[in-house]
Amino acid sequence: MKKNEIIELLQSIGSEQKMLFRRARDIKEKEFGNYIILRGVIETTNLCKVNCDYCPMRKDNIKNNSIFTLEEKEILSTANIIKDNNVNIVFFQGGEVPQTTKLIGRVIPKIRKLFNDKVEILLNLGIKRKDEFQYLYDQGATSYILKHETSDEDLHFRLRHEHLSTRIEAIKNLVDIGFKTGTGMIVGLPGQSISSIANDIILAKDLGVHMCSASPFIPAPNTPLVSNKHGSVDISLNAISIMRILSPNWLIPSVSALEKIRKDGQAQGIRAGANVLTINFTPSIAKQKYLIYGRERFVVKNHYVSSLIKKERLLVSPSVFIKR
Ligand code: SAH
Ligand code: SF4
Repeated sequence: MKKNEIIELLQSIGSEQKMLFRRARDIKEKEFGNYIILRGVIETTNLCKVNCDYCPMRKDNIKNNSIFTLEEKEILSTANIIKDNNVNIVFFQGGEVPQTTKLIGRVIPKIRKLFNDKVEILLNLGIKRKDEFQYLYDQGATSYILKHETSDEDLHFRLRHEHLSTRIEAIKNLVDIGFKTGTGMIVGLPGQSISSIANDIILAKDLGVHMCSASPFIPAPNTPLVSNKHGSVDISLNAISIMRILSPNWLIPSVSALEKIRKDGQAQGIRAGANVLTINFTPSIAKQKYLIYGRERFVVKNHYVSSLIKKERLLVSPSVFIKR
């Protein structure tokens, strides 16, 4: 697919959009049947040393936020709850701080034991040095998500105060080590062009990753971007379809930000070609302090996912990455 075609498809509406979704859904069904993959997320810490302008956990908010980092026993009891819910992907998400390397590294073998090794340990803890990534892999982590966020170098630096190349190098390190690697983009960041969203999709493909997300931008409270408008759900859904067409075997989540902006947004993500949902298992006190998208964020709970699965007539698939 040429870049021009991607740009055109990203802007599909009405019957063209329906056709795009159908094409993507057919490919997904050929590759995965009507199976959906469920991840159980544990939000590990809201402490972060990076200062992304879109994120309420940014460094400048440390003095105003009430900070938490889960302890090992809370993590293990949460992993137990995930197991009891028949989910076999334990997903650690959190701010980018060096402390998470040792904390998570220590608990990984214990979680593996808890699941009798039939578990995928998925991490989303920001950039780390290659030897730290390697340590986590050696401890038994399976997969790692590090979104490139935006492939527009100037915009990336303006909003994240870091160079895109640093992020890309870290993603390449993950692939190199052997992680099942995910990247992703935020759609509708202030100052982002449609052409740069097409570049996001092309970049993800070039990186040789195994998973990718497209999530609409949410103007979160207590961030410099609070008064901007949210990203387009339609462009995000179209991006999901295009990625499915270009990379039939990718894991592509239908993210909660879609539902936050539009009722039924997550079901539409699945109809557009996504095949992953994430259920939030973070202990509730920590959950209140974990501020992605602000306090009013849409927290995906188990009963909501169960009704979505029923409504969309899906079957639940265990992790496809369990064999290393
Ligand atoms: N700190 C790690 C992981 C946790 S943040 C990291 O940044 O990689 C997880 C994701 O939340 C980020 O990748 C970012 O894409 C997303 N995010 C944060 N604030 C957002 C917002 N306001 N709108 C859309 N996505 C946001
Ligand atoms: Fe930190 Fe991730 Fe938020 Fe950026 S998006 S401020 S790296 S938690």
